[in-house]
Amino acid sequence: MTGLSDGMPDEVDHSMCVAVVGVGELLDRTILAGGRSDYVTHSALAITWLGHGSFHFRTPGGQKLLIDPWLETNPKCPPAWKKPTALDGILITHGHADHATDAAAVAKATGAPVIASFEICTWLGHKGIKNVRPMNKGGTQSLGGVLVTMVDARHSSSIEEDGTIIPLGEAAGFVIKFEDGLTLYFAGDTALFGDMRLIAEIYHPVIACVPIGDLFTMGPQDAAKACEWLGVKQVVPMHYGTFPALTGTPDMLRKHLPPGIEVLELQPGETSE
Ligand SMILES: [Zn+2]
Repeated sequence: MTGLSDGMPDEVDHSMCVAVVGVGELLDRTILAGGRSDYVTHSALAITWLGHGSFHFRTPGGQKLLIDPWLETNPKCPPAWKKPTALDGILITHGHADHATDAAAVAKATGAPVIASFEICTWLGHKGIKNVRPMNKGGTQSLGGVLVTMVDARHSSSIEEDGTIIPLGEAAGFVIKFEDGLTLYFAGDTALFGDMRLIAEIYHPVIACVPIGDLFTMGPQDAAKACEWLGVKQVVPMHYGTFPALTGTPDMLRKHLPPGIEVLELQPGETSE
């Protein structure tokens, strides 16, 4: 991407972004149970992968959200994204260093509210971060009209500081309902678990960000099953390609996916919209 002036572009030069498939383009969901319409022909959501499990979302309403800030030492994070300066929200799935290392610094620099577990918010509070919005699984809160629900994940959550491992509650995922009704499931780090079918039944996500790297999370085969259970139309693979130990690839995911689910394969720094 070009046109970056302050490390976090207010306006991305879209000519340099490769839109693999427009977010929401493939959606054909119409009227769901209860008469709620989830029909989205083309959402204005813009998804930028910052490498590993870190993402920037520009929501259809124009808000800038950062998920799982591992930026400075993330070998795949493009230089232009290492020091965000303007955000409307920071979401953190769990406390591991590859997801939360830059949480305090980014929260301080931007003043953006942090949405995370009670334990992570308390840990950040001890670092002087006041603008926190703690929650727990099953709860929903609104961030400028974007509904954020914390859901389960099968993983652990801790961080090492001064040679000591600090437990930081349970790992979580998020269901995010954007201003235009588009619902995205952000799995965080997780194994496959059966209640992903419950997430499908209750929240009807149409796009999901799921880990595929294997070893510390589910690999491509289980990730494909997750997508099938979730009933999504599009999937953004994540948590792969960072280190050689993470062996899952988007091609392996494609091999296992049932027909009708599109893979939005992004390069770090690339935006799909
Ligand atoms: Zn991780």
